[in-house]
Amino acid sequence: MKTINNFNFKDKKAIIRVDFNVPLDENFNVTDVNRIEAAKPTIDKILADGGRVILMSHLGRPKGKEDKYSLKHIVATCSKVLGVNVKFVEDCKGSIAKEAVDNLINGEVLLLENLRFYPEEEAGDKDFAKELASLGDIYVNDAFGTAHRAHASTTIIAQFFPENKCFGLLLAKEIESLNRVLNNSEKPVTAILGGSKVSSKITVIENILDKVDHMIIGGGMTFTFVKALGGKIGNSICEDDKMDLALEILQKAKEKNVQIHLPIDAVIADAFSNEANIKVVNVNEIPDGWQGLDAGPKSLEIFKKVILESKTILWNGPLGVFEMENFANGTIKLGEYIAEATENGAFSLVGGGDSVAAVKQFGFEEKMSYVSTGGGAMLEMLEGSVLPGIAAILD
Ligand code: AMP
Repeated sequence: MKTINNFNFKDKKAIIRVDFNVPLDENFNVTDVNRIEAAKPTIDKILADGGRVILMSHLGRPKGKEDKYSLKHIVATCSKVLGVNVKFVEDCKGSIAKEAVDNLINGEVLLLENLRFYPEEEAGDKDFAKELASLGDIYVNDAFGTAHRAHASTTIIAQFFPENKCFGLLLAKEIESLNRVLNNSEKPVTAILGGSKVSSKITVIENILDKVDHMIIGGGMTFTFVKALGGKIGNSICEDDKMDLALEILQKAKEKNVQIHLPIDAVIADAFSNEANIKVVNVNEIPDGWQGLDAGPKSLEIFKKVILESKTILWNGPLGVFEMENFANGTIKLGEYIAEATENGAFSLVGGGDSVAAVKQFGFEEKMSYVSTGGGAMLEMLEGSVLPGIAAILD
């Protein structure tokens, strides 16, 4: 796997695909600088070598050139976070981009305008990719969040750098972390899968059954399994058409010697609301008019034991409706157990949009071994896909 550490960037122009798709408030202030910070190690190394950095990114989903999606809004923040004076050019191609690049000297950073101002970016247009490629000597992909897209700047561009293409440090770390969980893992390996629906996680579950010793299934998915097993789930979320699949998964897990842990009790509510009445019951005895919205205390004790005995832990998806205070306990406790296991030497990887949000909200970010930066990309890797942005560099 070639990374920027395999290159010396002295006198070279590195064209880096970063993911600076950051949230902005109504005054165009950047409200979360994580993604900019995440790219800093890659940029630092190239500048330290004596190279020049050209940054390209998308921002939002513009329809053509829309001022509110201009990357000019983030230039000051980039300068501050990266600790260098970041230059900006109002196009990502054509003569003004070329001129800005020609004026760049070693040690300088230039940010190009939003790639998605051109539909050719998302279409993966070859000519557009070639124009972008003409701006740099070495192509670096450091954008995990878009690595599952075959866009011009994330994938197609790589073919114009047969020798001079590599991963940035962030993307390399994502790939290594996932490898450490799925392929080079220390046993026992436990995956915790939560979230709302079986249908959105089914491919993940099937793919990782071969890689794990324990699988904790929680969140809304629980109830499709419980109903399929003959339990009473009241008004809990359920995908009736996935019940056969749920039974198949349980059977496959048995054949593969994977221990599945479903919640045995649940915090139930008489409405989908933080103000609803709540009580704790066995997971398969939920009365009509009530719905399970979090894992109960007995389940959490079981999950705790499994997690503390694990050497490798993967967490994707919350255990309950953590957005509401009364149903956040399971997700918070789970975070605590994983943090404790990590402190005791386990490797823990958290990925997928909502669990990352939960980890940040409840302050566990520093206590996990690695928190992934890409939601969709992470899920696709867990499903066993080779992401086009990664394949294009390995090619
Ligand atoms: P996902 O995007 O599939 O990972 O699902 C995340 C969402 O699942 C979160 O917004 C949670 O509120 C929701 N969720 C977790 N547990 C439950 C549950 N028991 N019932 C309904 N929604 C749930």
